[in-house]
Amino acid sequence: MSTPTAFWLAGRPATGEDTFDVVNPYDGSVVASVGVPTPAQVEEAVAAAKSVEAEFAATPAHVRAAALDHVSKRLAERTEEIARLITAENGKPVKWARGEVGRAVSVFRWAAEEARRFNSGEAQRLDTDAGGTGRLALTRRFPRGSVLGIAPFNFPLNLVAHKVAPAIAVGTPIILKPAPATPLSALLLGEILAETELPAGSWSVLTVPNDRMPALVRDERLPVISFTGSDRVGYQIMDSVPRKHTTLELGGNAAAVVLADWSSEEDLEWAANRIATFSNYQGGQSCISVQRVVADASVYDRLVEKVVAKVRAQVTGDPADDATDVGPLVDEKAAERVESWVEDALGKGAKLLTGGRRDGAAYEPTVLADLPADAIIATEEVFGPVLSLHKVDGADEAFAVVNDSRFGLQCGVFTHDLQTAFRAHRELEVGGVVIGEAPSYRADQMPYGGVKDSGVGREGVKYAMEDYTYERVLVLTGL
Ligand code: NAD
Repeated sequence: MSTPTAFWLAGRPATGEDTFDVVNPYDGSVVASVGVPTPAQVEEAVAAAKSVEAEFAATPAHVRAAALDHVSKRLAERTEEIARLITAENGKPVKWARGEVGRAVSVFRWAAEEARRFNSGEAQRLDTDAGGTGRLALTRRFPRGSVLGIAPFNFPLNLVAHKVAPAIAVGTPIILKPAPATPLSALLLGEILAETELPAGSWSVLTVPNDRMPALVRDERLPVISFTGSDRVGYQIMDSVPRKHTTLELGGNAAAVVLADWSSEEDLEWAANRIATFSNYQGGQSCISVQRVVADASVYDRLVEKVVAKVRAQVTGDPADDATDVGPLVDEKAAERVESWVEDALGKGAKLLTGGRRDGAAYEPTVLADLPADAIIATEEVFGPVLSLHKVDGADEAFAVVNDSRFGLQCGVFTHDLQTAFRAHRELEVGGVVIGEAPSYRADQMPYGGVKDSGVGREGVKYAMEDYTYERVLVLTGL
C-alpha cells in the first residue's frame, strides 16, 4: 500500500496507526488514504497548543501578517491543483472549486490586513464621575485560549480558512478538524502553513474520527470551539460544554423572495438565473443555497417558466469537466436521502416540475411546486439540488413565509424599492438580507452567521478575530 497522506501534528507531518480512505463521489475511486492520529498524538497536539499560547500571542503583528500573506500567495499560485483536489474529494464542479480557492486566497489576505489593524485599542476617560478623577481606562483584546475548529465537507478549503486565518491573525493556537469525507484540502493547506515561521504547536490539522471527538471537545485546554456543520451536531457540542465559548455556523433553508415590482423581462431573467444557479451550484450543498422561492402572484408564472427552463439547461455530470454545472452529492447516502425526501413530498401532493431522478451519488436538479406543509422538505434543510416554489400575495405574506422556519441564515429579496429593502432588513429573522440577489451571496469579510437553529455567533475574518479574543481593560490611576 502507498504511504498514507499525513496529518499535521504541531506543524509537522505525522502518520498514525490507522488510515481511512477518501473517495471521489463521482467515480468511486480512492483519492487518498489518510492517517488517523492516535490518542497520544492528539494529546501531544493539544499540549503543544497550550504550551505555545503565550509565545504566539506575543508574536509581532507584522510577523503574523507576513505568514498570512504568504499563505494567500501560495494558495493563489496553486489554485488549479487545489481546485482539482477539492473536486476529487467533494464532487464540486471544478469551476466552482476554483472560485472556492479564490475566496480562501482573499480570506488569508483579509486576515493579514486585519492582523495589522487589530488591537489598537481604545482609551476612555474615567473622570466623568468623582471617583474616576485622575484615572484612564485602556482596552485591548487578548486571546481566550486555543481554538478547536471543526469544519464541514461542503467548502473543504474556504470554511477551514475561516477558522485558521483569524486564529493566526490574533495569535491564538488552533487545532483544526476537517470533515472525514473531505480532509485533503485542509491537509494541503497544512503544507503551505508549514512553509511559514509560525511557532511549532500553534497549528495542527488532525483527522480525528467522529467517535473520538467528544473527548477533544471536552478538553479544557481548548476553551474556544468554532464549529461549522449541521445543527444536530452543533447543538450537541454546545450542550456538552456549556461553559466554553462556542460559535455555531449551522444549516438553513434559504429563501429568494421576488416581489411585484421586480417584474420587467430583464428583472425576471436576472432573478431566474441567480435562483437556478444558486439552488444547484454545488449540488445544493451550501448552507445558503436557494431552497425556497417565494414569489408574488403577479410575477410567479413568468418567473417559474424561466427558472424551470434554466434548471433543465444545467449541465450535469463529471465535476472535473469545465462545462459541468452540477456534479454529484458528497456520497450516495446523501443522494438517497434527497431522493426519499422528494418522494415524501410528491406522496403528500407536491407537483414535480422537473428533475426527480437519482443516479448513484448524483441527484438531478429538481423543482417542486405546491409543497404541502407536512412534507419533510417544507421544514428541514434539504442540502441537495431541490427547489420549492411558493406563490404569495405581497410582501407581508412573503416575509411571513420566510420567517415561518426554524432556520434563519440569509434571505435574498428581489425588489427595487428602498423602503421595502429596509423593511426586509428590519423584519426578516435571518443573519443577512441580500437585496437584488439570491440569498447565497457571501463576501468573506462581512459578518456571517444565523439566528434560530442556524447558529450562534458570527464568522467573517474580523468577526472571528473578535470571537477568538476578549476585551481586557487596563485602568491607570494618578494621571
Ligand atoms: P456535520 O455536522 O455532519 O459535520 C460537521 C463536522 O463535525 C465534521 O467535521 C464532522 O466530522 C464533525 N463531527 C461529527 N460528529 C461530531 C461530534 N460528535 N463531535 C464533534 N465533531 C463532530 O455536517 P456536514 O454534513 O459536514 O456539513 C453539512 C452541514 O453544515 C449542513 O447543515 C450545512 O448547512 C452546514 N454548513 C453551515 C455553514 C455556515 O456557515 N452556517 C457553512 C457550511 C455548511
